[in-house]
Amino acid sequence: MMKKICGLGTASMILLACTSPEKQLNMNIFTQTVGTAKVSLLSEGQNTGNSATLIGATPEMFRECAPDSTYPSAVNAFLVQLSGHTILIDAGFGNQLLQNLKSLGVTARQIDIVALTHLHGDHTGGMLRDGKPVFPNATVYVSQPEYDYWMSDEAMNSLPENRRGGFAGARKVLEAYKNRLQLINVREIGETPEPLVPGFYGIAAYGHTPGHVMFMVESGAGKFLIWGDITHATAIQTPYPAVAVTYDVNPGQAVATRHKVMDYVARHHIPVAGAHIACPGMGELLDNRRQGYLFQPADLKEKVQQAVREQLKKYPELRLQDLYKNFFQDYFGPEHLISDTAMAAKYLRQELDSEINPAGAFFEPAGWEGRFYRVDLSAVKEGKIPCPVLLDAFLRSAGHAAKPPLPIWHAQWDAILSHIDALQLSLPDYETDKAALQEILQSGRYAVHHSDAFSDAYHPHYRIVSKKIVEEELTLYLK
Ligand SMILES: [Zn+2]
Repeated sequence: MMKKICGLGTASMILLACTSPEKQLNMNIFTQTVGTAKVSLLSEGQNTGNSATLIGATPEMFRECAPDSTYPSAVNAFLVQLSGHTILIDAGFGNQLLQNLKSLGVTARQIDIVALTHLHGDHTGGMLRDGKPVFPNATVYVSQPEYDYWMSDEAMNSLPENRRGGFAGARKVLEAYKNRLQLINVREIGETPEPLVPGFYGIAAYGHTPGHVMFMVESGAGKFLIWGDITHATAIQTPYPAVAVTYDVNPGQAVATRHKVMDYVARHHIPVAGAHIACPGMGELLDNRRQGYLFQPADLKEKVQQAVREQLKKYPELRLQDLYKNFFQDYFGPEHLISDTAMAAKYLRQELDSEINPAGAFFEPAGWEGRFYRVDLSAVKEGKIPCPVLLDAFLRSAGHAAKPPLPIWHAQWDAILSHIDALQLSLPDYETDKAALQEILQSGRYAVHHSDAFSDAYHPHYRIVSKKIVEEELTLYLK
């Protein structure tokens, strides 16, 4: 049973190897239950994207949503285990597909349905090995318009010669599975569907390709949508659905589809999984009412609570506003825009003249994602990092950070807070702090100081620096 209010509310999750952003190669599997069904991420690899593939993304959007000018991406397939059926949705590149299935106890022969969202190579690569079908017992579902497109010589010849390779690849797959191929006609989202098997049906989502489809899993009261390529740059296209990608066959149609699908799943609280959503590859969309949607990864609760526990262990005297500050810095970096670099230099030098306790660690990732780090000033005081280097790193990080889009941050904080609330911490002044933070956000502000209790206990002296600059530049000074 799933709660109506929140599609992920009572779904249980199994996390096999999907925790450390550092160990990117091993983030392969993440399972979520839907009624009596199970949907598992089969990651083919995690990567990052940049602005080159996006249409209509402004530098401001990048500053808001993608610090360091990159966003997390991935290539995923999914396994659906539903009332006796073993369904593979897309086949990725075929890199780790069989190994991932094996770790879930599933062999290629056991797959009785392969449902392809579309016929791009990163979704069909795992279908063939040495030109032969990898899934000998599977019925393969492809939408009729998708089939028509890839079989059309006219469509192929309309492209420059160096971009026709996808057609040959798609035709190879269609040919190899021709005896097991089922072409399907699907309906729009929200229309009464025609199930392929009970509890499983395709939905039209045309635009990325002419026959791109999504697949819905229904079990008990639960629904779960595997939406294929509705997003490629989730961090940007969720708040800004009008941003398209250069590999959309019809970018305008893809944008209209994305708006429609996002509106539907946000309104109906239907969890989604996507072929290019970074690990865990699934989550839920919140409508933040003023600017697009907010993607909440399925492991947000665990990650937030883990981050809170670590903060509490390190800083037992902390208050809610210190947690707020920590999560804010994760998303948006330095809280104040730096307009005057001379002043920033002066403040840094002044702070360095004060007493600074040795830190346990020079670098501390903020929040649950660690998009920004706190760099302790003791690193400068102890002669590890030269002062001008830290100042430059800080100023560049502040440049990466935009003035945070308040509606997005307010909705995000509410979500984070609900996961902190669930921990039932007995922090002093918790309710008062909570109300004060709401008041700050409602009045259009967002920056807060550390609490007096925190400042008295820990005398924090740090600067916020983006993850990339810490990893690629500052760590070198510690070697
Ligand atoms: Zn794709």
